[in-house]
Amino acid sequence: MDSQMNYGSDYKYIPVTSVGSGMGMEVLPDIFHYTIQIVNIFLVGKPDTNDFVLVDAGMPGSAEKIISVTEERFGANSRPKAIILTHGHFDHVGAIIELVEHWKVPVYAHENEIPYLIGQKSYPEPDPTVEGGMVAKMSPFFPNEAINLGKNVMPLPTDGSIPSMPEFKWIHTPGHSPGHVSFFRESDRVLIAGDAFITVKQENLFKVLTQDKEISGPPRYLTTDWKAAKESVHKLASLKPTIALTGHGSALSGELLTESLDKLDKNFDKIAKPDYGKYIN
Ligand SMILES: [Zn+2]
Ligand SMILES: [Zn+2]
Repeated sequence: MDSQMNYGSDYKYIPVTSVGSGMGMEVLPDIFHYTIQIVNIFLVGKPDTNDFVLVDAGMPGSAEKIISVTEERFGANSRPKAIILTHGHFDHVGAIIELVEHWKVPVYAHENEIPYLIGQKSYPEPDPTVEGGMVAKMSPFFPNEAINLGKNVMPLPTDGSIPSMPEFKWIHTPGHSPGHVSFFRESDRVLIAGDAFITVKQENLFKVLTQDKEISGPPRYLTTDWKAAKESVHKLASLKPTIALTGHGSALSGELLTESLDKLDKNFDKIAKPDYGKYIN
């Protein structure tokens, strides 16, 4: 396996946190949700098997934590079959190089996200001028330069299947990033939405800190294509998920999910799209 990997040159620990940080929850017998500072990771697979994957890879500097959470659930020296990415923003790949080196497992992402993961392309600069709160204003400190995972990252199969996550299908949900994907399991209508929509108002430092539950569009300071983001939310709302797990904020289910996702879908421009910002035309 190619060990020539590096983070972007602006990669660093980001001192932000939330009341959810360090908390784990079994959402379903085969889905474990864990919060690293302000972002979620998911372990998908039953704990009594060795068949599981990690969805997303946390904040910079969180590899040890992720490994210990994994071993607590799946046993000493357990390792996932693969790491599956919703997208490549720094808060979703923060520990990925250490994890790939430790576990020696492949990483999968949408083909449109691969250039940002093999050192070819940097994400656009986060927009501190976007309508929103303190986190948006802090966003210039967030790393946006391309990370290079070399040959360790591969495109998701084009047929919608996900390696080592057999019951799920990936759905292309661009807007927040070009190759953003969400994962859906038809049998119980579980949705892992990534940052296509989230359940906390991520621009607002106080709401992030307290994890005040509020369905929200994708984090504003990093979203560059609002038209695509709107279509992606519509696509996900049409699936009528019963449980939604998002990159930021806590899980939503049942009627609360149905109502709030429907509201977001119908009023996307009002709720999600900022009134002003660099990526608003
Ligand atoms: Zn993101
Ligand atoms: Zn995120």
